[in-house]
Amino acid sequence: MERLVRSCFRQGGYVFAQKAEEIAAKYGGARIAQLASNENPDPPSVLAVTAAEKALPVSNRYPDERVDILIKALKSRYGDYHYLTGAGMDGIIETLIRTLVESGETVAVATPTFSFYGLAAMAQGAHVTSVPRDLNTFSIDPEHLARAGKTAKVTVLCSPNNPTGNATPVDDVREVLEVIGGVLFLDNAYVEFSDHDYLRLMKTYDNLVIGRTFSKVHSLAGLRIGYAFAPSWLVPYYQRASTPFAVNTVSAAAAAGALDDPDHPKRYITQVKGWRARFVNEVKFPVLPSDANFVLVDVSPYTGDQMVENLAQRGVVVRSCRSFAGLPDHYIRVSVGKDWENELFIKAINGI
Ligand SMILES: *Cc1c(COP(=O)(O)O)cnc(C)c1O
Repeated sequence: MERLVRSCFRQGGYVFAQKAEEIAAKYGGARIAQLASNENPDPPSVLAVTAAEKALPVSNRYPDERVDILIKALKSRYGDYHYLTGAGMDGIIETLIRTLVESGETVAVATPTFSFYGLAAMAQGAHVTSVPRDLNTFSIDPEHLARAGKTAKVTVLCSPNNPTGNATPVDDVREVLEVIGGVLFLDNAYVEFSDHDYLRLMKTYDNLVIGRTFSKVHSLAGLRIGYAFAPSWLVPYYQRASTPFAVNTVSAAAAAGALDDPDHPKRYITQVKGWRARFVNEVKFPVLPSDANFVLVDVSPYTGDQMVENLAQRGVVVRSCRSFAGLPDHYIRVSVGKDWENELFIKAINGI
């Protein structure tokens, strides 16, 4: 019966991180350092949890399709922009491409990067054009990306970039926005860990969508909630293309609650900034400078897969970068976790 499945889903797909419980079962480690998925290791803010608990008993009703509670909280936190919401930023990426891209049209992506843009584009029958980053610095060539974006319906730039960690200067983003023929999707999943401010571009450009998520700095990965800053013309069409009620009541309440507690993200941001520097200084393999809550480590002569296995044996789960197309196979990506997790990682990798 598999012949019935569309060809774009017969191979590949999203590659998930290894499960800590499975590593523990395999190697018998007592405590496993979970540094593979760029999550905030702290539980969510009490304000988020309380708001979620209050929302649960009314879950017999469908959610508010306008997600008012969250839009209000976003406006009071970030200002009077137009917002999109979705089941994770992944949900927003999927819906945005569905809103804009006809089968046979082009999506241009600066690579190596997060894989889901390409997967979502292919599911829409789009052609994906990869625009390679510099393989030493991983910076983009804005002229090159802008040129590819001239004929693309959507151009995708991740900054700070997953998995390389570097951010793109705002002037380079501006250069791309000036030239492209479609929409720029700027993925800001990690922007809170950087000192870059792209939001001011929203005032000038009506071809820019900036994606954000509650999964990383806000500790709500399990609730699947993302948002985006968007030009006003796009909002009603995005809503038409979306599945009805894409954001559930509990997640919307939790996210709004999270925005009421600015100290929660601040604690982790401080933790990240300190440990990024320590990783660079203390790990014996080259660690790339990062603007995100993870670092890319060049583990050659090992492959990423070999290093992941070596570290798993020592109780540390990290991400091999083999699945990131366009990146050589000798890299791992390591999230900043709790102190003991980061310490265990440094000890483990330096012992290899
Ligand atoms: C984690 C991540 C996302 C997805 O976030 P969700 O809101 O959990 O779907 C999007 N983009 C990048 C680059 C990410 O690393």
